[in-house]
Amino acid sequence: MNVLVINSGSSSIKYQLLDMANGSVLATGLVERIGEGTGRIKHKNAPDSAHETESVRELPIPDHKTGMQLAAELLTEPGKGVVKDTSDIDAVGHRIVHGGEYFSEPALVDDSVVEKIREVSPLAPLHNPGHIVGIEESRKLFPGIPQVVVFDTAFHQTMPSEAYIYALPYEYYSELKVRRYGFHGTSHRFVAKETAKLLGKPLSECNIITLHLGNGCSMAAVRGGKCVDTSMGLTPLAGLMMGTRCGDIDPAILAYLASQKGLSIQDMDQVMNKQSGLKGVCGSNDMRDVHAMREKGDERAQLAFDMFCYRIKHYIGAYYAVLGRVDALAFTAGIGENDEHVRAKCCEGLEPLGIAIDTAVNLKRAKGARDLSQSGGRVKVFVVPTNEELEIATQVMDVIKAG
Ligand code: AMP
Repeated sequence: MNVLVINSGSSSIKYQLLDMANGSVLATGLVERIGEGTGRIKHKNAPDSAHETESVRELPIPDHKTGMQLAAELLTEPGKGVVKDTSDIDAVGHRIVHGGEYFSEPALVDDSVVEKIREVSPLAPLHNPGHIVGIEESRKLFPGIPQVVVFDTAFHQTMPSEAYIYALPYEYYSELKVRRYGFHGTSHRFVAKETAKLLGKPLSECNIITLHLGNGCSMAAVRGGKCVDTSMGLTPLAGLMMGTRCGDIDPAILAYLASQKGLSIQDMDQVMNKQSGLKGVCGSNDMRDVHAMREKGDERAQLAFDMFCYRIKHYIGAYYAVLGRVDALAFTAGIGENDEHVRAKCCEGLEPLGIAIDTAVNLKRAKGARDLSQSGGRVKVFVVPTNEELEIATQVMDVIKAG
């Protein structure tokens, strides 16, 4: 069965076609600058597919419909495409950032599902509207093919109310649904499942702290496969320090800066999302640059690195206490998978909690899942590469199998 996974943004569409007989990727692509003067589509057939190719085309892509059509043409191009025609695509899975409280599981798309995604759009105004356009165009382009929506927020819907209600007037929750939702849920779910395999135990018996450390960063406390707490909140701004996002700050800072600098709420939103985090402290949002700078003695880069790791350590402690017993920490995403300095620093001094990394193993660059823990360590420390597209496609298959 071939599943097309689509992540449709406000001006871009990312897609991946997977053969779910073995979970292999047949082709990937990115349509960018939709609605701008010149658009761009980059398409790549997998090396082990029948026709290995990579192409980049620049042309006007006025809307999502055109973008989606171009992707379909490249997937089915005679002699070059990885499938003969669109009837070889058995299902489409859409990545959706926000499902509000409506969705704790993936769902087969129908009009009422689209309406609910539209209804919660104010909670994710930069993402959900683009997703809806993607779903609607995909329904037209692939009529009769099942379409499934998979939500970033869904995995976290199992949190207990004490973890997700904010200490604000309760009406903000009951009337406006202001609460912690959490994000990166597809990644946390996938990584928790893979970690259970590495532990050799059923997921239902594992307590795991998952650390998704990329440009965006979040952590989750997962008890028996169910999320019980996560660091992001109403929006993906809360929690850990990130590439350009501040994470947790004293909320009174907003009023103070408004009075001292005359910044509006919109200005502050921009500052907290785009000009803060690693970038705000030392000038770069890329952890590789941060290392290069601190190796040259840049004190701000050192501070940014220390702050980044300190905040993670805080959450490890918090989630350790929440879970009571921890079987494993699982590092994932760009930084989690590749950055030995961050992993070492976050786990430094945690030996009394049973968390100890083998320095030599941690230093070794490798692909794939691996165990970094010292032998005999009570808590395993793993690197588990995330694969959100495969997880989305797997959930699509589950929905279809369930009828
Ligand atoms: P992601 O959002 O998962 O693509 O991750 C992006 C982040 O991963 C950026 O901050 C990159 O600097 C970081 N990253 C990617 N590769 C490496 C690497 N080899 N070492 C350290 N950080 C890396």
